[in-house]
Amino acid sequence: MSNIKIVFKRDSILANDKLLKELIKTMKLENCVKEIVDNNFFSIENENFKLTKFTAIIIRYENDKILECDFILTSREYEADSRNIFISQGFISFMQMFVDKKMDNKNFVLFVFKQYKNISLSCSLHIEMIRNIFKSLSFNKEVLNVYAQDDIFNCELKNIENLSYYRNELSKKNSSNKSNLLELLDANEISLLLNFGAANNGEAWLIIIYCSIYFKGQINIYSIKEFKMDKNFLNFIKKINKKIFFKGWINSKKVPTEELNAIFKEVHYKTDITFENKKTPTLPEIQEAIRRYSLIYHNNLISKYGSKECILCDCNNPSLIVGAHIKRFSDIKNQENISLEQKYKEIVDGDNGFWFCSNHDKLFEHGYIIFHENRFHITEKCSEEEFKYIVKITTKKLKINKELINENFINYTLEHKKRFGF
Ligand SMILES: [Zn+2]
Repeated sequence: MSNIKIVFKRDSILANDKLLKELIKTMKLENCVKEIVDNNFFSIENENFKLTKFTAIIIRYENDKILECDFILTSREYEADSRNIFISQGFISFMQMFVDKKMDNKNFVLFVFKQYKNISLSCSLHIEMIRNIFKSLSFNKEVLNVYAQDDIFNCELKNIENLSYYRNELSKKNSSNKSNLLELLDANEISLLLNFGAANNGEAWLIIIYCSIYFKGQINIYSIKEFKMDKNFLNFIKKINKKIFFKGWINSKKVPTEELNAIFKEVHYKTDITFENKKTPTLPEIQEAIRRYSLIYHNNLISKYGSKECILCDCNNPSLIVGAHIKRFSDIKNQENISLEQKYKEIVDGDNGFWFCSNHDKLFEHGYIIFHENRFHITEKCSEEEFKYIVKITTKKLKINKELINENFINYTLEHKKRFGF
């Protein structure tokens, strides 16, 4: 019990924190804590981890008795920071240490300093991920205790679908700073579009580690920005899941000409129009291009509408939900008076679409439903029987939230109406 230190990296405020002192008292650690220092104990050289706020104290137990206390992973939630980066970033700093110094077979405690009344969903989600990560790997059993002033869990992670749903729901209305996206393609493949930028970095890694453990299929990682993977970290993760692939980065602002060409070719191929080009892309190339562009498109739809849920019937089974363009892909592609940049912008624009279930997707595509004057309408194209089916059986609501309507969005709906002579 003599070599006990509490170390904080770059956070002298926390070292003198009233809450921390209270916590130490509650845990009867007063005698164990020799000093609280603020230094750079963790010399994390990797650029990606520089922003980590808090690091850890490790506590070793034996038969419920504290044997040794080195580090506690600490974190706190600030009301002002709705993104709750602190929890995930502190954890990643800790993981980095775990990878670098091979500190396995230890017990850890996660403290959450709850300063305000409600701990948000993203905070809970991060804690849940960390709890589950601690449960696996090679840590001891019952490794993680979470100390907070109140019960803070309002979400429970049962599977990857849960995580995907919660994460995507949190991305709503956050189009300025691109959130991390999980797109479950099927039971065997998931794509992660991750933002390794400042506020999202910790969470991005947290998602990678969580998915590596709990998703047994193939994991494709895409980065929103140009980004170099930390090799040690990636090797560590590859030990957990061999089917993890870093597929490179996607610049959502710059037009990916080659990818667009590949997608356009696919459209030509489908519609049986001869495509004049020197090089025919291979099928995997086309599939990869389509996957990338739809990730960006879906990320934008999530920023606007939240998680995948049909706007007309609330169906939220991700396998049944599609991102449906209002102005059709093929119309954008064939339009002659707009630049490639503009085409790309419209193809991935969150305003140019809805989440629809497969049913409503087709009804909209074929003009049985249109959007006019701030709401959906069932058109005269329907017979009386069809009208009954659509309105009474499948459609729950025709109005949409006013905040979702803007000029850009309206322009797309005008194009859609024009196609059906309205
Ligand atoms: Zn629907």
